[in-house]
Amino acid sequence: MTCLIVRPAIKAEVTVPFISCYLDGFLRSHNLKSRFLDLNFDQDVRVLMESKDASDLIFIVIEPARALCNSDLEILENNFKLLSVIFPGKTKYLLSLRSTIAIETKIPDIKVVCSIFFKDWGLSFIKGHESEYCIYDHAPNWSIIEFGRYNKTLFASAIHVSMLTSIGCSFDCSYCLEKKEYFSRCMDDIVRDIRLAQGQGVDNFVFEDDLINNDTKHLMQLCKTFMDNSLLISWQCLNGLYPGNIDKKLIEVMKQSGCFHITLGVEHFDRGVLDEIGRGGYTTSHIRDVIIHCKRNRVIVTLYLIYGLPQSNIIKDLKTFIVSLLVNPDMCHYGVYGVSWKTRSLQIFSYLFFYTLPHNFINIVIMVKNYRNFIKKVFCKFMRDII
Ligand code: SF4
Repeated sequence: MTCLIVRPAIKAEVTVPFISCYLDGFLRSHNLKSRFLDLNFDQDVRVLMESKDASDLIFIVIEPARALCNSDLEILENNFKLLSVIFPGKTKYLLSLRSTIAIETKIPDIKVVCSIFFKDWGLSFIKGHESEYCIYDHAPNWSIIEFGRYNKTLFASAIHVSMLTSIGCSFDCSYCLEKKEYFSRCMDDIVRDIRLAQGQGVDNFVFEDDLINNDTKHLMQLCKTFMDNSLLISWQCLNGLYPGNIDKKLIEVMKQSGCFHITLGVEHFDRGVLDEIGRGGYTTSHIRDVIIHCKRNRVIVTLYLIYGLPQSNIIKDLKTFIVSLLVNPDMCHYGVYGVSWKTRSLQIFSYLFFYTLPHNFINIVIMVKNYRNFIKKVFCKFMRDII
């Protein structure tokens, strides 16, 4: 029996599909052969026909960021014996919901043989036993990836692998949709997965934990484990750290263990707005000190800020924008909460202003360099659409 792992074409930048690697590891540990296909690098779903000679095929769809269209479904239905389909979280990936319902309706006897839900992984840890069907309990198979095809790491110009060291978060921010029970992975498993990736020539990692500094002891221990095991890696976090849970000591240990870029989930610089959304424990001067200390230790800092939060208004949002310049981070991301022309136009203005500051020119160069595949893809699609 051969399992086919398929990643549908996505419209964002194409990063290494780490879930597919864990899934492949899971299948192999159950003595199942598998083949990985990333449709981002092939013409369309028709390339699946090449795999038709496999007599007993499980077709698996994972990591979709767009819905499989009906014609894709028809090709699959008419040509493959669909024994099982694995879905990502229905609530998280709203775009895939329609295709999920379409597949379930067309294939009523569908079976789910294993789970790619991070939540199941967390629950298996909390219950204190290994989950038989959760893919993350198994060593990932990084060898299915042709790393050279994927986008490089922001700021590092090197291919990275995404990984988790924990999931969930113990905070209770009122606007957050990602609230989950917190648990951290065992250090041995993290070291194993990193060593396996190093075996494939990858030394750069992006830790995609919901909140990597949720438990500062865990983060300290993680950094020390990297050093104790002589793991010569570079790593970054693109999910905002909680600014109240970071101090000078932690920044130094993170740097020593290979951290070169952190993002801080500051969200806003108005105390009233932060109180309203349930984020306390940090002030503007603390943020400024963290940024200064990061720069001293050559750790790049990006701030995440959100306009239009509850209790905010255009004046408070404008103040947040000005303070975000004054504290002098390396990068800023300005998001919007709810859509109004005021917040949207302030967001566009902020980006234009921030990125035209002289010191940001280098950021633009790095981004264009790292994301040139993505830019090329968007440009080609645009040209195809207009021709
Ligand atoms: S700290 Fe981050 S992940 Fe945790 S509840 Fe707040 S926004 Fe959500």
